[in-house]
Amino acid sequence: MPTGRFAPSPTGTFHVGNLRTALAAWLFARSGGSEFLLRFEDLDRGAHGDHERSQLGYLSRIGLDFDGEIVRQSTRLDHYSDAIAALTQAGLTYPCWCSRREIREAPVAPHQPPGAYPGTCRDLSTAARTKKEASGRPPALRLRADGVVVTVIDSLHGEHRAVVDDFVLQRGDGTPAYHLVVVVDDADQGVQEVVRADDLLESTPRHAHLQSVLGLAEPRWAHVPLVVDAAGERLAKRDGSTSLTEWEKEGGSVPRLVALMARSLGIDCDDECRPADVLTAFDPARIPLSRWTAPSP
Ligand code: GLU
Repeated sequence: MPTGRFAPSPTGTFHVGNLRTALAAWLFARSGGSEFLLRFEDLDRGAHGDHERSQLGYLSRIGLDFDGEIVRQSTRLDHYSDAIAALTQAGLTYPCWCSRREIREAPVAPHQPPGAYPGTCRDLSTAARTKKEASGRPPALRLRADGVVVTVIDSLHGEHRAVVDDFVLQRGDGTPAYHLVVVVDDADQGVQEVVRADDLLESTPRHAHLQSVLGLAEPRWAHVPLVVDAAGERLAKRDGSTSLTEWEKEGGSVPRLVALMARSLGIDCDDECRPADVLTAFDPARIPLSRWTAPSP
């Protein structure tokens, strides 16, 4: 049975969308009797302990449990450096001095998705590189992906195929980037099934490619449709209006919210329930692929 995980960034108060993704990931893991792990992705700007405490409180209040120790990325920097060193050793990285603006304004290479890195610093001459180094600006480190096309199979969305661009592995300030750390952590934690929101589906070929070049097993993927507000906009952690606290303030109960979230994942359940009550009724094939509008009490 594949080990699952939930990997929130402690950068704000959970909204209903975060809770629903956590519930979905828990259901995938626990319905097969698997381990379910928690990892705080605390390398993000704005991450801190208060948010961790509030997020843990929310997860426990809706009735989700986890196995083992909580993992925090901030304690694992050596592992990310090792992975970057291995990629560099294999000739798969290069420094990049481009600013966001330069990337935005560069012509997009053929067959690359919008926003993909155009390759400006990929093959600099020695003279050009010396000039960039002399600028004193610390470079980011990018993966040399050579325009590889990667297909991943998602259990909800089916086949997803994309050109992998030369994405950033380490930012100019030395912080390892999300695409690298998520892959290293999932491998080290023995995660075999990644369940997360479907805004990350388009990044998944990057992750699968890194897994392949680092010789790591590719997990199963399941990207759960995003939750949107009444205006159809995706929810943001800074927008407290869809938090559990707000839900309760307006007279909503936790078991009612769990029931609504469970129904939104295709489960027939009572008007009020706990996650453990709906485990046997969970069937990933019944998760609707449309976006779900956050409910009001
Ligand atoms: N930390 C990411 C988030 O909170 C999730 C990353 C993942 O599940 O791979 O959106």
